[in-house]
Amino acid sequence: MATTLITGGTVVSATGRVEADVLIDGEKIVAVVHPGSNVFGSDLAASADTVVDATGKYVIPGGIDAHTHFELPFGGTEASDSFESGTRAAAWGGTTSVIDFAVQTAGTRVPDGLAAWHEKAAGNCAIDYGFHQIVGGVDDASLAYLPTLVDEGITSYKLFMAYPGVFYSDDGQILRAMQKAADLGLLTMMHAENGPAIDVLAAQLAESGKTTPYYHGIARAWQMEEEATHRAIMLSHLTGAPLYVVHVSAKQAVAQLAAARDNGQNVFGETCPQYLYLSLEEQLGATSEEWGDFEGAKWVCSTPLRSREEGHQDHMWQALRTNDLQMVSTDHCPFCMKGQKELGTDDFRKIPNGIGSVEHRMDLLYQGVVTGQITLERWVEITSTTPARMFGLYGRKGVIQPGADADVVVYDPNGRTTISAATHHMNMDHSAWEGFQVDGHVDTVLSRGKVIVDDNQYLGRKGDGSYLKRGLSQYLV
Ligand SMILES: [Zn+2]
Ligand SMILES: [Zn+2]
Repeated sequence: MATTLITGGTVVSATGRVEADVLIDGEKIVAVVHPGSNVFGSDLAASADTVVDATGKYVIPGGIDAHTHFELPFGGTEASDSFESGTRAAAWGGTTSVIDFAVQTAGTRVPDGLAAWHEKAAGNCAIDYGFHQIVGGVDDASLAYLPTLVDEGITSYKLFMAYPGVFYSDDGQILRAMQKAADLGLLTMMHAENGPAIDVLAAQLAESGKTTPYYHGIARAWQMEEEATHRAIMLSHLTGAPLYVVHVSAKQAVAQLAAARDNGQNVFGETCPQYLYLSLEEQLGATSEEWGDFEGAKWVCSTPLRSREEGHQDHMWQALRTNDLQMVSTDHCPFCMKGQKELGTDDFRKIPNGIGSVEHRMDLLYQGVVTGQITLERWVEITSTTPARMFGLYGRKGVIQPGADADVVVYDPNGRTTISAATHHMNMDHSAWEGFQVDGHVDTVLSRGKVIVDDNQYLGRKGDGSYLKRGLSQYLV
């Protein structure tokens, strides 16, 4: 097997940092050694097949984005990144594993939905990939399939309290699913927004002529997120099922999660880069020469961007520091403006929901280190180590240690990255992050020992990534 030595860098983990060289044999990390050590009897650099010079740089476990939607059918169209383009973009940004969502809808079978997603992904991915299962139709048949999901390495499934008629589960369905999940050790992921009430508010706004993207944010009020989060927590408490709330954006929802955690519950939350940086006023309410007041469609996603004036963004950073929120995923769900977001020109309800960020998560979160919002170690924890533990990948992924997969990123803190649709690798005609100047740069990316990005060149190929069969959550209290 070919050996690789990453030398001269600072290896950063969730708990500390150390000057160390990382030795890779084939697909695995085999040693983390003190620089200049003679323990292997000779000059390591001279005997390694490949040497990566990481002098002055951070050496971190590859990012794990636990929330992506490639090729997702939504709102009469389909998310614009394929597994091929999306995972390649992820690699460019220092992410070496993704967990996407296989979809089952009411009236269809879970195994059919899962098989369809395996087919989309197999042989096309640049990096390793796993699946969560969306259960959009909770009934006897779908519940009976949950044990098989666990056997197949799909140890988390997602329910929706929003989108009536599409993915929605009522409280009785949620209760039944959670009872089963509690027995199996399955992690229940929840889209926590009160969909039926939101749909009434949205219809009232649209009927009164308030049809621009800004009103997407008004209809999906924070009260709807707080209420649903609370309800999910109560059902989790009653059933004993661990709960993971996705894309948390309202500070009041964070308070609900924090209270449940103080109560000793297995309740967790993720937020996304958009809820840390972007707002109702500045983005959803934006206008441009090209798009007029439809400009805000670029940032229509659910949960929505929240009011800056109300202080949600600062509170998300705080919650990441205090571990009231455990990790950051992207909810990458890209749609182009032309031909896709445009479907909602006359009515915000018809704008496909989603923002594309899979390429930028590591860089955007590193800004929190630059500005002092989080430590260097916490950056690694919330982008890699906790996602690995939360979703049953830790040991193989999420850490640089002997025996782990050699998913490693060499990150240059003195580099600089400018985000633009003109240079990104996602299949989108715009960027939600256009013009963002980011300190730090992904220099080199290894996926299971293979250098797939180096010196601003993509060296991998589709099919490099393999399916990840996951274990049960390793994060439960
Ligand atoms: Zn969702
Ligand atoms: Zn999502």
